[in-house]
Amino acid sequence: SRTLLRVEDLKVDFQVPGGVVHAVRGVSFRVRAGSTVALVGESGSGKSVAAQSILRILPRNATIAGGKILFDDGVVNEGPVNNGGGPVDIAGLKADGAAMRALRGGRISIIFQEPMTSLSPLHTVGDQVGEAVRLHQRVTARQARAQAEDMLRRVRFPDPKRALDTYPFELSGGLRQRAMIAMALVCRPALLIADEPTTALDVTIQAQILKLIKDLQADLGMAVLLITHDLGVVANLADEVVVMHRGRIMESGTREDIFADPRHPYLKALLRAVPRFHMAPGERLVPIRSITSQGGSLLEKDHQPWPAGADAAGPLLAVEGVRKRYGARKAGWFGAKAGAGTLAVDDVSFAIAR
Ligand code: ATP
Ligand code: MG
Repeated sequence: SRTLLRVEDLKVDFQVPGGVVHAVRGVSFRVRAGSTVALVGESGSGKSVAAQSILRILPRNATIAGGKILFDDGVVNEGPVNNGGGPVDIAGLKADGAAMRALRGGRISIIFQEPMTSLSPLHTVGDQVGEAVRLHQRVTARQARAQAEDMLRRVRFPDPKRALDTYPFELSGGLRQRAMIAMALVCRPALLIADEPTTALDVTIQAQILKLIKDLQADLGMAVLLITHDLGVVANLADEVVVMHRGRIMESGTREDIFADPRHPYLKALLRAVPRFHMAPGERLVPIRSITSQGGSLLEKDHQPWPAGADAAGPLLAVEGVRKRYGARKAGWFGAKAGAGTLAVDDVSFAIAR
């Protein structure tokens, strides 16, 4: 099928105290319309940065230093996204300009591991999903609410009408995830980016959400760029697989190619390195992974190198200097300013013994 997204030689740099970090170093891949591409690779390899580049929601200290992000969903572009009908180079757009605002949430959406990254605690589910419609379509509040209800039904809320008036905190983790998916899909984007959408959920709910994404993809015909550490998920859902390592692509190919005969031993090493937490109450620990991408580090034996002098056996999990601030991204996404800049986690460190 048609190429929907073509990323060409993408480079992303971060300005950090004392220099520049080259997080993405010349990455190229494509996503065909309606297909599922899995983006895999160890922690810190640049998967989220690549995804955030496509939506232009990179942190402030990041810049796209080179390359193109060509998006063409076949829609004749009018209004802000006007380039004569061909592909739009997202890398060349202004991150907060009208064209990018029209694409983001309208034609390309993202869902995250932690639904509260997308959902505001202050507004009802109906208002938030409806708001996503009104940002992109000229509709009345009533029409937006009807579309929100329809999408809540499609993501299988047990009682979509009632769900409109609930607040995120009243919902279970799985339903919050569904609300976030409804908000992402309510405008029928051609591309959904899912950045470890189910990592924080328990295994049963994970399977339900992945099945839901697969069903919605069949229903709505969107392509999915799925970032995951779970190679079982890759084996189930992906048409094509792109493996990243330290900001570069190590290998890519169809699912069959990649699993049957990795052209590079890296995927095999990755299969062994996938972190596993066999600790039932410890599921609460997993969301730390999303926080690490905002600064600080999560260390797990056999997954990332231990700092010099660490005990050879090492703790099961060590979290060092994690900091998370709410704000810029959420404000950009919804146009809401509430809570911007609030420090949610400030320099948290702890370790859990084996
Ligand atoms: P994970 O699987 O843990 O989510 P990832 O592959 O998504 O990892 P990214 O979040 O894309 O990794 O980060 C890639 C690299 O970009 C990191 O190793 C880090 O060097 C750099 N990086 C990410 N965010 C920042 C930031 N805010 N400031 C400086 N460097 C950053
Ligand atoms: Mg990530």
